[in-house]
Amino acid sequence: MIADYTDNKDTAFAKQSTHLHVHTTPMKSMGEQMYKLIGEMFPICRSITGKGVTDTLNIIAKHIPLTIHQVPSGTKVFDWEIPLEWNIRGAYIMDSKGNKVVDFANNNLHVLNYSVPVHRNVTIGELREHLYTLPETPDWIPYRTSYYKEQWGFCVSHNQYRSLKDDRYEIHIDSSLEHGNLTYAECFIPGRLKEEVLISTHICHPSLCNDNLSGIAVATFLAKELLQKQPRYSYRFVFVPGTIGAIAWLAANEKNVMKIKHGLVASLLGDGGAFVYKKSRRGNTEIDEIVSSVLRSKYVNHKVIDFNPFGYDERQYCSPGFNLPVGCLSRSLPGQYPEYHTSADNLDLVRPESLQESLELFSDIVRILEANQKYVNQNPRCEPLLSKRNLYHTIGGTMNKEGLHQALLWTLNLADGGHTVMEISRRSGVDLDLIIQACNVLHEAGLLAEVEPMNELLTADIRSRE
Ligand code: ZN
Repeated sequence: MIADYTDNKDTAFAKQSTHLHVHTTPMKSMGEQMYKLIGEMFPICRSITGKGVTDTLNIIAKHIPLTIHQVPSGTKVFDWEIPLEWNIRGAYIMDSKGNKVVDFANNNLHVLNYSVPVHRNVTIGELREHLYTLPETPDWIPYRTSYYKEQWGFCVSHNQYRSLKDDRYEIHIDSSLEHGNLTYAECFIPGRLKEEVLISTHICHPSLCNDNLSGIAVATFLAKELLQKQPRYSYRFVFVPGTIGAIAWLAANEKNVMKIKHGLVASLLGDGGAFVYKKSRRGNTEIDEIVSSVLRSKYVNHKVIDFNPFGYDERQYCSPGFNLPVGCLSRSLPGQYPEYHTSADNLDLVRPESLQESLELFSDIVRILEANQKYVNQNPRCEPLLSKRNLYHTIGGTMNKEGLHQALLWTLNLADGGHTVMEISRRSGVDLDLIIQACNVLHEAGLLAEVEPMNELLTADIRSRE
């Protein structure tokens, strides 16, 4: 029912490019590289289905290996149905003198996304009924969609709207709505554990930068970074059309979601706003704790907010039947910056340094997630004799020796298989990074053994449905 194939050409290319990129990209230039990737994807007219999505995935596949999945139109996915595939070749509004007063070729936001095809002459009165504008910001073109109601329309700047004369206009939307597919992609990075970390981002907006391209860029570069490592967790990057794509993914993966131990929806990561973390519906999961802690320790201006069923695909991952430990990490919030869903969400709004900072935050979160395990002290009866093991030497001279001494003693004491690294830091009051270093040193010295994580994500409600 749900077709699943790998685009051999792209995967082969991606594999090759993954090897080429190993050790060649210093962190500093990542912001510029992500900005360049955004510039490459920006002109494409994306929607929830159609060529715009596959063209975008082909660009991402030059950076990371992707598995492409296609779900045919008409497929039932929970309460929803995959719509007809929408494609568009061009659109315009032409006055009686033959001037194209509005042209899709200049900006793909001009067409109401998912417009049905239309080609006829209309009066100014009829045309106005199908025009969308933003009177408050008269230079900007709004972004509007009509996925589930058949209609046609144009989005224009309010200045364009006002300049339209009393005339007859030829309107042409050269689009098609046909039986086809919804396409999404995954990049799976196997780790030592079967437990997975989900990173999900939407890929369905046309020429809008912060809203969708920034999330795609940060997710792609985070995946690229992880591909060079041997992570503890397995990582699943999911590039889906918003809402319907996430619903289709959940429908196809209903039996596998219990592997997801942590997750983040990545969106709105390229503007200059302070970070906002929206917690998972459960509100007290490890990912909620880790993101909050990293934000607290590194960013003076940030916000942590409780879950709400608005925003991006956390709405689906956190619907009560799944209730996954998935939060949403963004800078500005959807609908809460002036350029949101307008032509001003463009290459001037997103900045390489903001993208860079966002990627660094995600990397930090991943680093803590990877480190936040439980250990068992292998010498639990009385303190081990540290001096004979040369532990401090391993760390080097620049280290805070007193802090490390405290970290070592606390870690040895609380490493009873019941405390995570974060819990040891919290209970001891010793900085998390010192505890992480202490764990590494003690583990290398054979004084700590790792505990394989329990399947903590198997919540009672999901168990009862199995
Ligand atoms: Zn949006």
